[in-house]
Amino acid sequence: MRILKEKEDLSRFVESEKKQQKKIGFVPTMGALHEGHISLVHKSIEDGNFTVVSIFVNPTQFNNPLDFKRYPITVEEDILKLEEAGVDLLFLPNVKEMYPNGTSETCTIELGHIENVLEGFYRPGHFQGVANIVKRLLEAVNADVLYLGQKDYQQCMVIGELVGQYELPVQIEIAPTKRESNGLAMSSRNLLLSEEAKTRASAIFNALTYVKENIRKESIRDLKEIASTMILKAGFSKIDYFEICEASDLSPVDQYSPEIKMIVLTAAVIEDVRLIDNMIIN
Ligand code: AMP
Repeated sequence: MRILKEKEDLSRFVESEKKQQKKIGFVPTMGALHEGHISLVHKSIEDGNFTVVSIFVNPTQFNNPLDFKRYPITVEEDILKLEEAGVDLLFLPNVKEMYPNGTSETCTIELGHIENVLEGFYRPGHFQGVANIVKRLLEAVNADVLYLGQKDYQQCMVIGELVGQYELPVQIEIAPTKRESNGLAMSSRNLLLSEEAKTRASAIFNALTYVKENIRKESIRDLKEIASTMILKAGFSKIDYFEICEASDLSPVDQYSPEIKMIVLTAAVIEDVRLIDNMIIN
């Protein structure tokens, strides 16, 4: 696996691969890699792509400085995992490389209303940071296919907006959420949790599953209340949101309708670690 740290080297290398008719599959990450990330890598390799992974903890998408400061960094283990998975190229830039004029010089990208709901409401500026870094990474990688995880459903929508807005010539593939055996969605932030909290945190999966299984039987209001109670009873200190929405635009729904594709999404805090998860209902 080749490791490059500069955009110019990366672009040159990728162009030479493209000249040999190879398609470029790209998996952007912030490192502290787990099986969820690796499932995206496998998908790209299975699709026959020259597979590029980036590891970059993007400062502009952290609205909470403590979250940024303690974000887990495990680059050496990550490199081994990527080599074992068969990745062709790892892009490992530093902050100066991605933000040569400083991190305050980001542009405002038109993302529509999804920028400000749910995650966007609780993490002001977060999606602008995400859109800015993904735009810069895509410009450097010039990927044909971008692999994203459904775990960050709203982020997938935001990146879809970005790609549409700038007419970026990239296809988006969304892979299902990888979970621990107790249902907890894999996440780099899980490394910050005690073993006990990881066990308790399966309540999120149980609550999402409860909604999915009972959506035809109970009112949306009751479902949200029961599910929130399940999460809080398990030891979460706070729920930012627990919402049932239309999957197409994340507008909240107040009644079940079989014709509408729905999704249930939540963000909740345990041991000061904020976890997010979601599940498609129908
Ligand atoms: P991150 O390193 O958390 O920024 O995630 C990098 C990519 O991996 C994003 O597209 C995420 O949605 C995806 N991802 C994160 N966790 C999972 C998971 N548990 N299953 C599948 N994909 C995931």
